[in-house]
Amino acid sequence: MTHLPAGVLSGTDYQYLIKRAKEEGYALPAVNVVGTNSINAVLEAAAKNNSDVIIQLSSGGAQFCGGKGHPDAFNTRVLGAISAAQHVHLLAEHYGVCVVLHTDHANKGLIPWVEALIGYSEDLFQDQGIPLFTSHMLDLSEEPIDFNLQESARLLKRLSALDMSLEIELGITGGEEDGVGSEDNLNNPSLYTQSEDCLRAYEELSPLGHFSLAASFGNVHGVYKPGNVQLRPEILKAAQELVQQHCKTGEKPLDLVFHGGSGSSKAHIKEAISHGVFKMNIDTDLQFAFAHAIAETIEQNPKAFKHQVDPETGTPYKRIYDPRSFLRDGEQGIIDRLTESFHILGSAGKSLAS
Ligand SMILES: [Zn+2]
Repeated sequence: MTHLPAGVLSGTDYQYLIKRAKEEGYALPAVNVVGTNSINAVLEAAAKNNSDVIIQLSSGGAQFCGGKGHPDAFNTRVLGAISAAQHVHLLAEHYGVCVVLHTDHANKGLIPWVEALIGYSEDLFQDQGIPLFTSHMLDLSEEPIDFNLQESARLLKRLSALDMSLEIELGITGGEEDGVGSEDNLNNPSLYTQSEDCLRAYEELSPLGHFSLAASFGNVHGVYKPGNVQLRPEILKAAQELVQQHCKTGEKPLDLVFHGGSGSSKAHIKEAISHGVFKMNIDTDLQFAFAHAIAETIEQNPKAFKHQVDPETGTPYKRIYDPRSFLRDGEQGIIDRLTESFHILGSAGKSLAS
């Protein structure tokens, strides 16, 4: 086994990480972060579990990192993503694990956001020989497939020159993420990616560079009442087999990503990983873990969040309302829930960092 340098990976190091994960039958959690709190919690959890990890920013998360109140939303989204990425670059090696740095869903309207970030990586690559991000996602699954693949090809050429990768989406992940999507999930055929589309993506994109594929197999963003999700991981198997046979590749040629996996059963997760899923996005469950831990603190100390000093006893509450105290509880909530994910996904103890 080759070890990789701790820190943010790119290019062949990232592809080696994927290859190892698929061979060893594990996947890495991809966590949507919204600031240094969540970034540090993810790095701490990864280090404690000796697992590599994927840290990603949605456009909304990036905007939040830049400051929700700034009137120039576009540039705030760009600068917020750069700021968060720089924080990860500074700290990842310090925590001693390999980190994949990624941006999440970008629909047609967000292509300029991704291109601005690619522009930043182009400058950085020229100066220092490394890109800022490991990969970006372009989610044009709601557009016609011709447009989806043309735009993906155009960006992949730019990314490939920077040792970067692209994640694309075929078929729609149901549910709602940052206001995208709806709750009408069942009986929607576009929620199941067609094998033929995966083959076409492989044929058109793999000559241009490295890409990963978010395929839909009934997965849904968010957590809904039971019965709203009918996962069919065998769809992933069929896509892998079609590409393998048609393009005469080795086993499981597609590097697959599992979106909308919150609330999935362990059996379905394990089956998806066995079909070549190396990345599982985990957002909703960690949002809840963060919020739940803070809520418990507030419930246990209701007076400390209403009074600086107890009106009856005169006890000062500074120790409790200091944001470092309850935000740390939130971080601990993320760490505990993410620890569970590292074990379910099988990545605990598998860090490739030397
Ligand atoms: Zn997603």
